[in-house]
Amino acid sequence: MDLPNKADVVIIGGGVIGTAIAYYLTQKGCKDVVVLERNQMLGLESTGKNAGGVRAQFGTKVNIQFALESIKIFEKFEEITGQDPYFSQCGYLFMTENEKLWQSFQENVKLQNSLGVDSVTLTPEQIKEKVPLVDVEGLLGGTFWQRDGILDPSAILVGYEKKSIQAGVKFVNNTEVTGFEMSDGKIDSIVTDKGKIKPQTVVLASGAWSKRIGKMLDFDFPAIPMKRQIVTTKPIGIPEGFPMVVNMDSGSYLHRESGGILMGWADPNTKEGLGIEPDFDYTMEVVERSMARLPIIEEAEILSDWAGLYSVTPDHHAILGKIEKMPQVICAFGFSGHGVMHAPAVGICLAEEIVDGKPTFLEMDSLRFERFAKGELVEEKNVI
Ligand SMILES: Cc1cc2nc3c(=O)[nH]c(=O)nc-3n(C[C@H](O)[C@H](O)[C@H](O)COP(=O)(O)OP(=O)(O)OC[C@H]3O[C@@H](n4cnc5c(N)ncnc54)[C@H](O)[C@@H]3O)c2cc1C
Repeated sequence: MDLPNKADVVIIGGGVIGTAIAYYLTQKGCKDVVVLERNQMLGLESTGKNAGGVRAQFGTKVNIQFALESIKIFEKFEEITGQDPYFSQCGYLFMTENEKLWQSFQENVKLQNSLGVDSVTLTPEQIKEKVPLVDVEGLLGGTFWQRDGILDPSAILVGYEKKSIQAGVKFVNNTEVTGFEMSDGKIDSIVTDKGKIKPQTVVLASGAWSKRIGKMLDFDFPAIPMKRQIVTTKPIGIPEGFPMVVNMDSGSYLHRESGGILMGWADPNTKEGLGIEPDFDYTMEVVERSMARLPIIEEAEILSDWAGLYSVTPDHHAILGKIEKMPQVICAFGFSGHGVMHAPAVGICLAEEIVDGKPTFLEMDSLRFERFAKGELVEEKNVI
């Protein structure tokens, strides 16, 4: 599609976040929307490279609420969009052998329960009963919620994309944003390698590249691109219904993938950068850490490995909403590894922010960019 010369809303980035926002804008009657994507196809970056995990078992109110409301939408996603999300509600099992983490697990469950997520704590014996393949030796306990699970992030993107196109949204691929032309402190035009477009509102849904785009506007967004790696194995008889298993001591997470295992780990020593070449040492570390609690992996053959990017903020919360100093610009990045699972609620809130001036679906003020200058950070610790 050719680049139109103007639009009410221009969304930079055609991942799951950009497409969700586009769809919910159309639901609010805002249909003059253009999505700019520099790749040939949508969803090739983080959206196409992640683990597909969805869980409401977070440690802060805002993250729990964004995930819970999104889960409710994933549960009826096919009804809404006509696209099967392949959502398997196999549950998430968090586990630990660390006293401090065990304390925080119990506090998390209390908070989750108070917000309508009926997660439970499990003893090591109950964990063994639920997931016999897990080695529970030395564990203090775990937490579990059955409505958490895994889905196909590309299916979510396609569902939102199709409905958005039907409603008139224009997706312009192969078009990279390279700068902005300003007039009186406002964005007059977005400059791309295919020409210019005049926006009323600009949404930065550009994932790990949002920091780079922020620099073009003189903002220093604390959302750092970090490489994260995933490894899959050939089938080893992992049964259907096997949950997402998170070993909070080693930082590894894993779930069933075609009878084998998909596993990942967020290396805390990764340096900031946009490179995504998988590296062998990282792959081996993912396998070692995953094997610690799932010894059957020792028998498995590695099928594939790949890397993608997290956009990581200091408090592990997304940066959402209008920028006070430049209200024409809407932030939608910094998801710190949980953007897919929050995408529907983010789409609804930001569509409300753009059309009505403020969201009513969920409280979003604690996620605004200005929190960093004000020092109002509440850290999400239940992250992987
Ligand atoms: C290994 C790994 C595992 C993960 N596991 C999970 C998980 O289990 N559950 C979960 O919820 N999340 C997970 N995540 C995080 C999740 O993938 C992201 O939070 C989510 O995909 C963010 O979506 P997005 O649309 O913001 O970003 P992206 O999908 O990266 O989309 C941003 C788009 O912007 C485009 N773009 C960038 N710059 C420009 C420009 N200048 N001009 C035009 N277009 C531009 C890019 O090409 C890209 O397509 C994981 C991430 C990784 C890397």
